[in-house]
Amino acid sequence: MGNEENETILSALRVSMVTEKRSNHKHLNCKPLFNHPEMSQHTKKEIKRLMGRAIHKYNMTEDGDHILVSVSGGKDSMSLLWLLRERIKRIPINYRLTAAHVDPGFGADSAGQMRSFFQEHGFDYQVITSDCGPKAHSPENLENPCFLCSRLRRKALFKMASELNCNKIAFGHHKDDMIETFFLNIFYGASVSTMMPLQPFFNGKVVVIRPLYMIPERLIQKYARLMGWPKIDMGCPTAGASKREDIKQMLKGLYRTNKKIEGNIFHAIQNVKREYLP
Ligand code: SF4
Repeated sequence: MGNEENETILSALRVSMVTEKRSNHKHLNCKPLFNHPEMSQHTKKEIKRLMGRAIHKYNMTEDGDHILVSVSGGKDSMSLLWLLRERIKRIPINYRLTAAHVDPGFGADSAGQMRSFFQEHGFDYQVITSDCGPKAHSPENLENPCFLCSRLRRKALFKMASELNCNKIAFGHHKDDMIETFFLNIFYGASVSTMMPLQPFFNGKVVVIRPLYMIPERLIQKYARLMGWPKIDMGCPTAGASKREDIKQMLKGLYRTNKKIEGNIFHAIQNVKREYLP
């Protein structure tokens, strides 16, 4: 995507926003649900190892970075935020994190729920209330609701990153997301593509990073259960009934027939033989 096009996208953003800073809100209960010491240690070690490997491979974090972490309220983005902060203590470089939540505007007040979470755990944050969700579900939208909703939320995040002078935006997409997106793009986008672990925009002014891209969803699920984070309700009518969910179920069926399929697809995405494509 070119510079001009990106700028046009940002200026075309029609998200009505209320940017909110810290405010009082009831604290959420956030106790670990189970805590078997050996299992916890193994899960935590493995998730940190895989995230560290991805970060090193693409040099995703550098000294002085200001990273806007997109937190939807799901287990993936909560894990990402937590792990990125925890990592600062163990590495010789320093970066700053700002957690960002875009409430899709379905009336479930995910903004309030996320604000409480960020405050309770001492994160710098920005919370935005938008109308991305209702817009994506309006009769005028002829696209898949998730496609438009995510695009509008992404634009809001880019705008926020620019206002806060963040040079990076981190998303919590994991290994299964990469694979599912690959099939979504083939089935519904007629293209062979997926998400990049690291992707510069505006001539590198903002870089999107996906530090969880090597981590399978089941490991993140385990980690999130150990951490006992609250379930954030976005109030979305499409949740659980999206095209992505259909692909997820299709892949689950395939994985049950052969354990190697998941790994093979992930490697295939990184081993494209262009000369054997028309
Ligand atoms: S599931 Fe709902 S909130 Fe999530 S991307 Fe789709 S439309 Fe938006």
